[in-house]
Amino acid sequence: MARDAVAEVRDRTEIVDLVSNYVQLKKTGRSFKGLCPFHQEKTPSFIVFPESGNFHCFGCGRGGDIFTFYMGVERVEFREALQELAKRAGIELVNAPSLPPEVDAHRNRLIELNELAAAYYANVLRNTATGSAGRDVLAQRGVSTEIAERFGLGFAPDGDALGRYLNQRDVDPSLAAEAGLLSERESGGYRDRFRNRLLFPIRTKEGRVVGFGGRALGDAIPKYLNSPQSVIFDKSTLLFGLDLAQDSIRRDDQVVIVEGYMDAIAAHQFGYANVVAAMGTAVTEQQIGLVKRSSRNIVLALDADAAGQGATVRSLEMLPGALDQELTPIGAERDANRPRAETMIIWQRRFKSQISIVRLPEGKDPDELIRRDPGSWSTVVASAQPFLDFYIDAALSAVGRADAPAKAAAVRRLIPLLEAAGDQVVQAHYAGIIARKLQLPESSVLRELRRSAVRTTAPRTSRVALPATATRSSNEDHLLALLLRHRAICQHVLPLVPLEILGDARNRELLRVLLDPEIPLTMAAEMIVAGLDDAVADHAEVLLERLEQTPPQYPGQIERDARRALIRLEKERFDYLMSQLQSSIAAAEETDDLEALSDLRQQLSALYERHRQFYPPPSPYFRDTRDGDRTQAASGR
Ligand SMILES: [Zn+2]
Repeated sequence: MARDAVAEVRDRTEIVDLVSNYVQLKKTGRSFKGLCPFHQEKTPSFIVFPESGNFHCFGCGRGGDIFTFYMGVERVEFREALQELAKRAGIELVNAPSLPPEVDAHRNRLIELNELAAAYYANVLRNTATGSAGRDVLAQRGVSTEIAERFGLGFAPDGDALGRYLNQRDVDPSLAAEAGLLSERESGGYRDRFRNRLLFPIRTKEGRVVGFGGRALGDAIPKYLNSPQSVIFDKSTLLFGLDLAQDSIRRDDQVVIVEGYMDAIAAHQFGYANVVAAMGTAVTEQQIGLVKRSSRNIVLALDADAAGQGATVRSLEMLPGALDQELTPIGAERDANRPRAETMIIWQRRFKSQISIVRLPEGKDPDELIRRDPGSWSTVVASAQPFLDFYIDAALSAVGRADAPAKAAAVRRLIPLLEAAGDQVVQAHYAGIIARKLQLPESSVLRELRRSAVRTTAPRTSRVALPATATRSSNEDHLLALLLRHRAICQHVLPLVPLEILGDARNRELLRVLLDPEIPLTMAAEMIVAGLDDAVADHAEVLLERLEQTPPQYPGQIERDARRALIRLEKERFDYLMSQLQSSIAAAEETDDLEALSDLRQQLSALYERHRQFYPPPSPYFRDTRDGDRTQAASGR
């Protein structure tokens, strides 16, 4: 789907229209020219080819398509360029679905019902006799009236009070059920979903109520009842309190994610307004994505309950399988969907964020901690450990000093995390920490790291071949696949690949990532792919799959293969520019546009000079320019 989006955006965007927003273009034959926005020049050598949707600057050599252009002039990354250009072209991306108007109207109606209910419940809590049970609980927990109002807390009476209220307002009960407010009775009819509960309205970032969390007053089961999953409510994509926290998050450049509603409320009451709650679920990628625009410094402060730090780790629900086995009671099912530690590291890279973990004092949750000693909270948050440090501590705490097999197992378990961390300096730093903690020589940890890199970069053999209908891969696809799969082998080739030689924006993005000094040569291709934007990741997976259908090669062969692909690519690029210029010249000749003709011939001869090794196919225009304009071009410099 994402693959199609890139192609569709390219098809539906007129490069001349796009470039015209930034550069004054003048038609010369079939192409357009103007002053290059990427380098200083007085005479235009920046040419746009509308038919192929490409541009090329004969002065500085920059070239590419709409994506390259937009990324260059707006200084944004591929993901943002894709989103912005898709918006301009009126194309919906899969990632950011905007719904058809009738669906939007329906969703809006459901949200309005939730807002109506929130106002009703808030009034019950604040002003009615039935609400006193809720007020008592809040008073016991030390929640001020002011903060209860800021969060819009409410109280759901026993019975079907909301149902009657909605009925008086002619609300269709089936719609209210769809909004998550009523439940269908088995005997027919509807009942209130929330009864005798303190209600926490859950709002979007924009402040719209899409659901509730309801806390039982007595011993009712379940203790917490949420709105059901629906078209408007998905807990894993929401953070409680985010609408109220956003400004502080931006100002403090830090967001603290706690577990429960009461934790977030206590923090806000005592002036820590950059705190939001994950509402008891494992923190999800969507939640991290929600906050990363406001701050990339993300601190997770999740409950340490009576069971101590072991439970903290478990409540993170994000640790790899091996560790879980020690911490999860025997027989408990492990959720295959939960994010693992590697995933956290990849999120850090994908969102360019720093995820840290707070180790809460044993037996205390943030709510208790803040209420007992409000000033201590900032100290606790400041003690947050970077995720990897926290994880390594937790993983090694149970390993006995004398238990050699356990030590070896721990090292093997941690290696994938170090690999995911990227930078070799970072890897060496953590390898040192692991070695010290396990009282092992540092070299043995590093050796294991290198061995693992060799294992994971070795070509897989047991792969089901794709159907033979798969498209024949182009030279640039093949080159990028080789560079991605055999990184160490191709380190000599990588610096030789000029970005502008690649015609496909996704390949350029891939090359940019491969050139990123933060990503070590030892990182496995799959790991790199996992950190890419969806559109680029899909493409990279196709490249790797195609590569696996080709016979295995020796390292030397692979490098020669890559160099050959690069040369073919340069030749292709040269031929392409030649043919573009020649057809522009032909068009200029037809219309007797002498000025354009002279310009284009100069470009042509400049191009030829630069690529002397590739002799172009015989062409009358080429011979003309070479014989006629060369001295002129040379003396003009
Ligand atoms: Zn230029």
